[in-house]
Amino acid sequence: MRSGNGPAIGKTLELHARHRDGREIAVSLSLSSVSLHGKWHAVGILSDITERKQKDDDLRAAMKVADAANVAKGEFLANMSHEIRTPMNGVIGMTGLLLDTELNASQRRYAEAIRSSGESLLALVNDILDFSKIEAGKLELELLDFNLHDLLESFAAPLAMRARSKGIEFNCALEPNVPSLVRGAPGRLRQVLTNLAGNAVKFTAQGRVSVRVSLVSETAAASVIRFSVQDTGIGIPREQQEMLFEKFSQADTSTTRRHGGTGLGLAISKRLTELMAGEIGVNSQAGAGSEFWFTVPMGKIAPPKSLTQGSAKPAAPASPAGVAFPAVRRQGARILVAEDNVVNQEVALGILHKLGLRAEAVADGGEVIEVLRNMPYELVLMDVQMPEMDGLEATRIIRDPQSPVLDHQIPIVAMTAHAMLGDREHCLQAGMNDYLAKPIDPRALIEALNKWLPPEDPMP
Ligand code: ADP
Repeated sequence: MRSGNGPAIGKTLELHARHRDGREIAVSLSLSSVSLHGKWHAVGILSDITERKQKDDDLRAAMKVADAANVAKGEFLANMSHEIRTPMNGVIGMTGLLLDTELNASQRRYAEAIRSSGESLLALVNDILDFSKIEAGKLELELLDFNLHDLLESFAAPLAMRARSKGIEFNCALEPNVPSLVRGAPGRLRQVLTNLAGNAVKFTAQGRVSVRVSLVSETAAASVIRFSVQDTGIGIPREQQEMLFEKFSQADTSTTRRHGGTGLGLAISKRLTELMAGEIGVNSQAGAGSEFWFTVPMGKIAPPKSLTQGSAKPAAPASPAGVAFPAVRRQGARILVAEDNVVNQEVALGILHKLGLRAEAVADGGEVIEVLRNMPYELVLMDVQMPEMDGLEATRIIRDPQSPVLDHQIPIVAMTAHAMLGDREHCLQAGMNDYLAKPIDPRALIEALNKWLPPEDPMP
């Protein structure tokens, strides 16, 4: 009354009030002060906010439903990826084994067609999964120190082959000031490059595809690098360029029938580039070829000092670029395979035997424990999803010093068709040493075996 101020002045309060007909309703009360003839007065505006309240509640309820639907979608994806990858592992793995047997020319052609169709299907499934993971905010970048020059070389080799088989030229060049040792997400970088260059080869009938890598700018901590993929192909009309990076969009649907594709490649590339804090774009004209480009900032790493180089451990043998697999160092080691799917059991055993290892299979976690209490194995390849007892639980039991197995420290490598973020962590938390995604890539398997198989006992 004296100052025209007070705790409620200038505020809007939400209160409950009783309506004339006896109902309790929600109201808002806004208070302000006015000075009339040198005296302070309070002015209050009271409004019925029942309707707004109801809308708020409805909105909250709708959001809850949407959140639940999103969680369900995530789970559905994890399950679907498992369900699809498991049989794909069988198809691709078995075809690989079949191709190593004696076949006549047409049988070989058929088997090769099965393998390449299987691989395309798997690539498609991986694309859909990637895209859904990005949409659900579940894709995280794995940041590593890597050699950019090596990455470009290995990325270019299969594309050059594809281009040559179409009779077009392919070259990949980088400017001399582009750093070679950098920190970034090499797997995702390669994925974007492969998408863009794969499209360029796909949509070019004659001429060439050139990949150029240059340094755009530099700070003390990072180098911004630009990757450009130029082709002399069909080009893209201006009005269609805007929507190219949207999911499921294709410039000319009649080309889809001719060239195939899902329209996800560029959408994924855009999302991945943005996740890497970069930009992506296109310059093109119908009939005059296209340039797809993207920029990515990459962390700088100090070149190793010669002193640390001298004392560094010898590097693992590099895997040759050819088709021959590197060898498993511990020939004859005994591996236990835990896998409930019979076809996949055979695939795993087939590959292991071919690598010069001894291997037997069991079908669930309980059997793993049973076998390991009686027989000395040197490594376990463990499926995660199995009936009765799953791989995570079996691992916990093996690692438990109270359990009856012979060797609690035996290396355990997970094989799982789960491709969602966090699976790796679950496996490692349960006590596994490493993690391989299905379908099993023989090269990754060999690497894991060489890493985890204990060295041979020195002869007494
Ligand atoms: P997909 O190739 O699986 O259809 P993308 O997202 O990779 O999906 O590409 C979307 C569309 O963009 C393609 O269908 C094609 O119409 C067009 N496109 C992409 N790259 C090129 C290119 N280098 N030249 C001409 N058109 C292209």
